[in-house]
Amino acid sequence: MIEHPKGLVLLDTGWNDLVRKSQWAELGLQVQINKAYLPAGWSIKEQLAELGYSDADLEVVLLSHLHSDHASGLPLVKHAKKFLVSEEEFEAGRKDKLRYIPKMWRDVTLTPFQYVNSQLGPFHRSFDLFNDGSIQMIWTPGHSAGLSSTLITGADGKSVLLASDTGYAQSSIEERKTQGISINQS
Ligand SMILES: [Zn+2]
Repeated sequence: MIEHPKGLVLLDTGWNDLVRKSQWAELGLQVQINKAYLPAGWSIKEQLAELGYSDADLEVVLLSHLHSDHASGLPLVKHAKKFLVSEEEFEAGRKDKLRYIPKMWRDVTLTPFQYVNSQLGPFHRSFDLFNDGSIQMIWTPGHSAGLSSTLITGADGKSVLLASDTGYAQSSIEERKTQGISINQS
């Protein structure tokens, strides 16, 4: 979560706490390829509460992509004001019934955003959340069609890049190892 002057911004939701009771109920057939891991205190609801916040305090929930381990917790933050995901990912989530479980976002209204040409990322396409360069979603597809990495730049000009699922570890990036479920290994 980013405490931004324009409001609280949450990036991805992690798993819904329902997975503690039944992985099958949350994941269906996906349990064969995906296992949820959510120790006590780790759900987004619990983590927000620990910081003294509730989901209604969130200005925007940004989704790097819509795979289960990033979107399953959406019902836990359904009172956030806005939910944004790239148009490419939104379309993939609608069409690809194998990799996505749309019931995870049925309680919220996902609003697709459009990447525009920019200097950022491998494909020079990104979306500037507040139009001030502070939070930018950069198109880094491969693992999924619309995957975003997030570049956060503070008032001091220093940046942090959050790159969900672009590589599982430093070594996988350096050795260019891709993941089994990628839609495009190159
Ligand atoms: Zn993923």
